[in-house]
Amino acid sequence: MSVKFYRPEHQVPLEMHKVRIVQKLFLPTVEERVEKINEAGNNTFLLQNKDVFLDMLTDSGVNAMSDLQQASMLQADDAYAGSETCNRLKKALHEVFGTEYFLPAHQGRACENILAEAYVKPGMIVPMNFHFTTAKAHITRVGGEVIELVSESGLEPQNDNPFKGNFDLDRLRELIDTRRKDIAFVRIETGTNLIGGQPISMANMKAVCKMCREAGIRTVIDASLMQDNLYFVKVREPEYKDVSLKDIMHEIADMCDIIYFSSRKLGFSRGGAIITKHEPTYRELMEFVPLYEGFLTYGGMEVRSMEAMAQGLYETLDMEVISQGPIFIEYLVKELDDYGVPMIKPAGGLGAHINASAFLEGMPHNEYPAGALAAALYIAGGIRGMERGSISEQREPDGTERYAELELLRLACPRRVFTLSQIKYCADRVKWLYDNRDLIGGLEWVEEPSVLRFFFGRLKPKGDWQQRLAKKFREDFGDSL
Ligand SMILES: *Cc1c(COP(=O)(O)O)cnc(C)c1O
Repeated sequence: MSVKFYRPEHQVPLEMHKVRIVQKLFLPTVEERVEKINEAGNNTFLLQNKDVFLDMLTDSGVNAMSDLQQASMLQADDAYAGSETCNRLKKALHEVFGTEYFLPAHQGRACENILAEAYVKPGMIVPMNFHFTTAKAHITRVGGEVIELVSESGLEPQNDNPFKGNFDLDRLRELIDTRRKDIAFVRIETGTNLIGGQPISMANMKAVCKMCREAGIRTVIDASLMQDNLYFVKVREPEYKDVSLKDIMHEIADMCDIIYFSSRKLGFSRGGAIITKHEPTYRELMEFVPLYEGFLTYGGMEVRSMEAMAQGLYETLDMEVISQGPIFIEYLVKELDDYGVPMIKPAGGLGAHINASAFLEGMPHNEYPAGALAAALYIAGGIRGMERGSISEQREPDGTERYAELELLRLACPRRVFTLSQIKYCADRVKWLYDNRDLIGGLEWVEEPSVLRFFFGRLKPKGDWQQRLAKKFREDFGDSL
């Protein structure tokens, strides 16, 4: 239940926690910000954290931990074999998901590596609602192919469908009918990351799992963003309004064959896990853990992270805990949308997404609108977002550019990290930037690595638009930071 304010016009999302450890932030001047972003090659991945005021790059490994998580880390039982920490984590997984078997891994992509090694052979396909970068990389590395079946609305920026992560069931049916033998497994991503943290409904998940079970096809759920998906199921899917989070989680674990997740997101910790109810599946996957990760009691994880994960998973069953991320993001999206800033809607789970192609209307893909907007927002407010557009794509083998379908600037909201006034500040600076969008120019490459160019590549502004933007900032804000 949410808290209602006496004066409706004062209604805002309310933090259901208090802050007991703080980290001092620094906000460089606008002139310094122009300098810093150019030292970083106009690539927000290359900014130093000390120069960043609001770090909205990612929600991975940067979520706030609770007091109980911090306390749990002190009881870590650091034994190679038979560790009590491992037993406590197993118990938490069993209670939260209802699954019996657990395989540890050092993070989400390590689970993906194990699943790809075990099940994907050259020529096989893995249908999924939408890919995630690391999941796709592991599947293609072993010769498999990813087939995306997300419903049409999932790719439409302004479509208000509450479950944009849903599968197109007709296309799944057709694929099963024509290529059943080639399917390694069907991957279901909750809180579908790359289309804006958009959820999948229980009804859709159930239909997918039922269809696969009847056809004898394995289903694998990527639960990395499950906490947000659970929240959206509760508030957007009427049948589940009165069902407890625990019962929803158990129902999900019942319908599929395997669940895996990154605990850098789910459980507000570090590490990863593969869990299942089926002993044969557990045995099939078990051998890969000592090979790639570590002994079965820790799988590459640090014991303190495992304790924090166990406690964090229990806390995931608390609506007041899991709602904090989505309600702050919804507030930010609404503020900006009301002002006319083109946003991806409805608000999703891991952050707010600005449609950079519409924000910088007319800027061609080869001037990288999403990257230019990321650099401009850092100049405007010391805010570090992440380019999710053409810079994040890879060139075709013949060297031509592959442009992104959507040029997005992602403003991640690490869970329970920012206060509402910081979110308001972010909205304010984006609004200022929107009113001054004519001043924003494009970017061009200075150094373009052939792999993972978005991590390490360096760009420069075309012309002196950044100086002109800083000058306008001074005119409008005087000597303010
Ligand atoms: C982050 C993420 C992963 C990968 O997890 P890591 O811990 O970063 O390796 C996989 N799937 C989804 C949906 C994610 O969001």
